[in-house]
Amino acid sequence: MQKLLTDIASTMQQENERGKVADYIPQLAHVDPQRFGIAVALPDGQLFTAGDASEPFSIQSISKVFSLTLALGKRGDGLWSYVGREPSGDPFNSIVQLEHESGKPRNPFINAGAIAVVDAIMMRHEPKEVLAELLSFVRFVANDESICFDHEVAASELAHKHRNASLAHFMKAFGRLEHDVDKVLGTYFHQCALAMSCTQLAHAGLFLVSDGVNKATGTRVVSAQRARRINSLMMMCGHYDGSGEFAYRVGLPGKSGVGGGILAVAPGRASIAVWSPGLDGTGNSLLGTRALEMLAQETGWSVFGH
Ligand code: GLU
Repeated sequence: MQKLLTDIASTMQQENERGKVADYIPQLAHVDPQRFGIAVALPDGQLFTAGDASEPFSIQSISKVFSLTLALGKRGDGLWSYVGREPSGDPFNSIVQLEHESGKPRNPFINAGAIAVVDAIMMRHEPKEVLAELLSFVRFVANDESICFDHEVAASELAHKHRNASLAHFMKAFGRLEHDVDKVLGTYFHQCALAMSCTQLAHAGLFLVSDGVNKATGTRVVSAQRARRINSLMMMCGHYDGSGEFAYRVGLPGKSGVGGGILAVAPGRASIAVWSPGLDGTGNSLLGTRALEMLAQETGWSVFGH
């Protein structure tokens, strides 16, 4: 495994075609597209890494896996009145489906859906309290107390909030958001601004590898059924309108973020995190996807065969 990751990292480091770093959040535009990291965490506690695996980056939409998990814990199946479970086939920040579907977002991983999930988690609490709970949950699943929000990224996204603010106001107009739009958005932007390294993310994904239990720490996070369902949502919706392509090429549940990270889960085998800041046309990490494709090919890991 170590040799494979070292090979993948050196192949990716030599690539000239690296995609385009997200610049609609100005703070993300400063990230060096040459960075590349990968980490593989196994249920027995072993960890393999290569490249910039210990460097924290903005996990952005990967955080939606953790907020979804928290929301299901608080609301159970009641969450599905806020948000659906279908792939959208539209870009991550699209507004068009919302009008046709009465303001109910297709799934928890597109922006509108994640904003609805934040609303579901808030339960009349202030953003500060909600964020403290989210942070302690992420620290718990990753077994790492050093994880923090990057407040500069959150402020940068808030200053350029117009697209997400439109989605939130549109949902509010349909009576879909219970809380004040600004409070929901402020919470959402901080959630997306969690900074984590590939190593921390790979550890945080371990509960999805072993039916809800982080075997490395011996703690149950969710039931087996819930873990499987979160994986199914990652498979179908985790890469926006690139989800079919990711399933075809990598064959594992995964969630990407515009910071260039991807968390992928090989059930029963490993939690994998990869980071390369340049994105493809659908907003997913170009080389991150390629690296996962190489890893899946070499290991044979796939949910579609054995
Ligand atoms: N914070 C980002 C946004 O709302 C998340 C998008 C992503 O990572 O795909 O635009």
